[in-house]
Amino acid sequence: MSVRERDLSEIRDAVAKLCASFPMEYWRETDRERRYPAEFVRALTEAGWLSCLIPEEYGGAGLGLPAAAAILEEIQRSGANGAACHAQMYTMGTVLRHCGEAQKKKYLPRIAKGELRLQAFGITEPTAGTDTSSIRTAAVKKGERYLISGQKVWTSRAEHSDLMLLLARTTPREEVSKKTDGLSVFIVEMKQALGKGLAIRPIRTMINHATTEVFLDNLEVPAENLIGEEGKGFRYILDGMNAERILIGAECVGDARWFIGKATAYANERKVFGRAIGQNQGVQFPIARAYMATEAAALMVERAAQLYEDGKPCGPESNMAKQLAAEASWQAGDMCLQTHGGFGFAEEYDVERKFRETRLYQVAPISTNLVLCYLAEHVLRLPRSY
Ligand SMILES: Cc1cc2nc3c(=O)[nH]c(=O)nc-3n(C[C@H](O)[C@H](O)[C@H](O)COP(=O)(O)OP(=O)(O)OC[C@H]3O[C@@H](n4cnc5c(N)ncnc54)[C@H](O)[C@@H]3O)c2cc1C
Repeated sequence: MSVRERDLSEIRDAVAKLCASFPMEYWRETDRERRYPAEFVRALTEAGWLSCLIPEEYGGAGLGLPAAAAILEEIQRSGANGAACHAQMYTMGTVLRHCGEAQKKKYLPRIAKGELRLQAFGITEPTAGTDTSSIRTAAVKKGERYLISGQKVWTSRAEHSDLMLLLARTTPREEVSKKTDGLSVFIVEMKQALGKGLAIRPIRTMINHATTEVFLDNLEVPAENLIGEEGKGFRYILDGMNAERILIGAECVGDARWFIGKATAYANERKVFGRAIGQNQGVQFPIARAYMATEAAALMVERAAQLYEDGKPCGPESNMAKQLAAEASWQAGDMCLQTHGGFGFAEEYDVERKFRETRLYQVAPISTNLVLCYLAEHVLRLPRSY
């Protein structure tokens, strides 16, 4: 075992131990009530796992993306739902690479201590959808502040976050030569802004995801909260997106491994016609297929994470990692439900919950078709289709 693998295996063991103190009944209950798993997020924060990417000089553990991927994978693999807090890692792609020193000094130590949460990422809008460059939320500079108006949708964890990274247009689309120009990213201090230009409305969904709509009405944001240069925000968000895709990929691998473990145990133990159902190839083969798909996806996640860590281009690998892992986890989830027969539908087996949860990752943060469009255009050099 290399030093790198040994370090990651120690991290995995510690995260698995923490997750074991949150039994499946905890996840059933939070899911049933659509309650934010605040206790779990607190425990992860106190153990330092959510600030693992923050450099040591700002109070974090200074670990890299492969370690963050291992942490999130382990959370999902334990049967938990890390969606309550994973964004604190995604957002670091943008923050660490593009925030100025003053912003880092102001926010990172407090995030590392758990005094502030950076869990909200406001990109998607109701009328723009996948076409990020057509967002309408606009930020207008007035002296030393920006006034931001518009609407975001699917801004997850907004009610449970102190800070949000927000994408807004600072130059109208008609006035820029490239439609991805003229977008800017801001750090919004949400608690102070609530009721003063910021309103949040929860959206109930098929999973426990604390997702919301966010309304912005002349919200005042100090100019010092602009990240990097005005108008260059799309590029900063892209850096965050690659990290996000890799980390989602790791979470899907974790889900898939949970489904495979659960299905294997059940197939060995459930007796029908006087023998274990797992003795039938019709039950074994789908488990073996899901295992193969998961191991292949895990290799792509590992490769993408390492490229990102080394500062190398990793757009194709990040997209493939996310897509292959999302497909593997869905395949494993479907297999696990089928292996459990009717019991797969019963809440107490946790399969139906994980099945619902893992489905999200074929739609968010980027849907399957758009990953395929990206590969067709940017890797295979086929004509742009949209
Ligand atoms: C639970 C949940 C949590 C989320 N959390 C966040 C968050 O925290 N922050 C945030 O900013 N966003 C978040 N999102 C939004 C998510 O990123 C978007 O839902 C996703 O990017 C897809 O956008 P859309 O829903 O507008 O779909 P649309 O863009 O309307 O697309 C609908 C369908 O059409 C397909 N499609 C569209 N255009 C094309 C094309 N040219 N070619 C082929 N197919 C096409 C898409 O693949 C998709 O299947 C979340 C979404 C959900 C459901």
